[in-house]
Amino acid sequence: MKVLIVGSGGREHAIAWKVAKSARVDKIYCAPGNAGIAEFAECVPIGAMEFDKMAAFAKEHQVDLTVIGMDDPLVGGIVDVFEKEGLRVFGPRKNAAILEGSKAFSKDLMKKYKIPTAGYETFDTPEAALLYLETAEMPIVLKADGLALGKGVLICNTREEAKDGVKTLMLDKQFGSAGDRIVVEEFMTGREVSVLSFVDGDTIRIMTSAQDHKRAKNGDQGLNTGGMGTFSPSPFYTEEVDEFCRKYVYQATVDAMKAEGRPFKGIIFFGLMLTEKGPKVLEYNARFGDPETQVVLPRMKNDIVEVFEACVDGTLDQIQLEFEDNAAVCVVLASDGYPEHYEKGYPISGFENFKDHDGYYVFHAGTKFDDEGRIVTNGGRVLGVTAKGENLKLARENAYRATGWIEFGNKYMRDDIGKAIDEVQRFK
Ligand code: AMP
Repeated sequence: MKVLIVGSGGREHAIAWKVAKSARVDKIYCAPGNAGIAEFAECVPIGAMEFDKMAAFAKEHQVDLTVIGMDDPLVGGIVDVFEKEGLRVFGPRKNAAILEGSKAFSKDLMKKYKIPTAGYETFDTPEAALLYLETAEMPIVLKADGLALGKGVLICNTREEAKDGVKTLMLDKQFGSAGDRIVVEEFMTGREVSVLSFVDGDTIRIMTSAQDHKRAKNGDQGLNTGGMGTFSPSPFYTEEVDEFCRKYVYQATVDAMKAEGRPFKGIIFFGLMLTEKGPKVLEYNARFGDPETQVVLPRMKNDIVEVFEACVDGTLDQIQLEFEDNAAVCVVLASDGYPEHYEKGYPISGFENFKDHDGYYVFHAGTKFDDEGRIVTNGGRVLGVTAKGENLKLARENAYRATGWIEFGNKYMRDDIGKAIDEVQRFK
């Protein structure tokens, strides 16, 4: 088979690595790809939003299956373009990717189908939102309706902050048209857990759980980022939580989408908050998470291409997912200064150290080849170093040891990824 992967981050590197392990695959393309993916895929200089060009490439090169990693092309309708051209593609159509593309849509869906989530109101004008905030309880959460690179959520402790937030989202339009409509949501407290799943329109298969660290600094301080590290499984995702979500969240979401005439095929990422009153859905994503994918896929035993195909064909009920009985931790190596100002272009050394170590991986996010053919830093999040271990504690030790194998200028990382696991006694 020939497989095309659309995207260019650490997530797509992990997907490409896993696809390369499939016995059914003999050629991988990645558009646009990155310096790490280039090791086992042919990188193609087509932008993820160039749908027609992408589909023409897939046709010309007789690609058997295209896998979309990123949210923007999914929400923009890349799957519909591929299907119209008779191409096999893994991912939700535009009318289903709205599950991630519009927070107002997903909140209304959860309300209608009684899927547990925080209470909320939706506003189309700043005047209406400000009026509501006059009497609403604080803290409160404001969310831009549309895609905002994961940054369109504002947690407001005071009424003043909330009013400023409305200005930021709706008047100053910090996230463009994503903030034309906002969701104002009840503030919840609790542990956050991410759960990824494969869906074929009817059947859902749950992967192992993961937990990420979004803030830039140790102790979950500092600005929000795309993710500074992650670990899997989450010790807070207990059997009781799993049972509850299987009963009230996972299949209920798939059935709700089907009932709405928007059957969902692809990945649903459930962002859950484990509140005192039980698990509640924080958000849905319509694709693999980054960096959750970098800890989930290394633990997956199945041939991922078989699972992708079962989703496309609607035969997922015949597949059982299997995960290794161990743990994985991913520490993101970033450029110092991220997510604000940082320098790029520093040569990176030490990749060869990973070659002889089973269970250790380095996934590229912001890297590129320079004119001399060296791999250099080219983004805020540069690499994800993942290691497995018998349990979370050992995986964490292994991952931090491996971060020392890589060197580059302005290297920065948090040193407490997965540290919360020390608080729980019953982790394996
Ligand atoms: P989202 O993109 O909706 O998952 O929001 C991003 C982050 O904001 C989440 O991972 C939470 O940490 C936080 N957040 C979102 N909604 C709420 C809420 N209702 N209460 C408390 N924190 C929230």
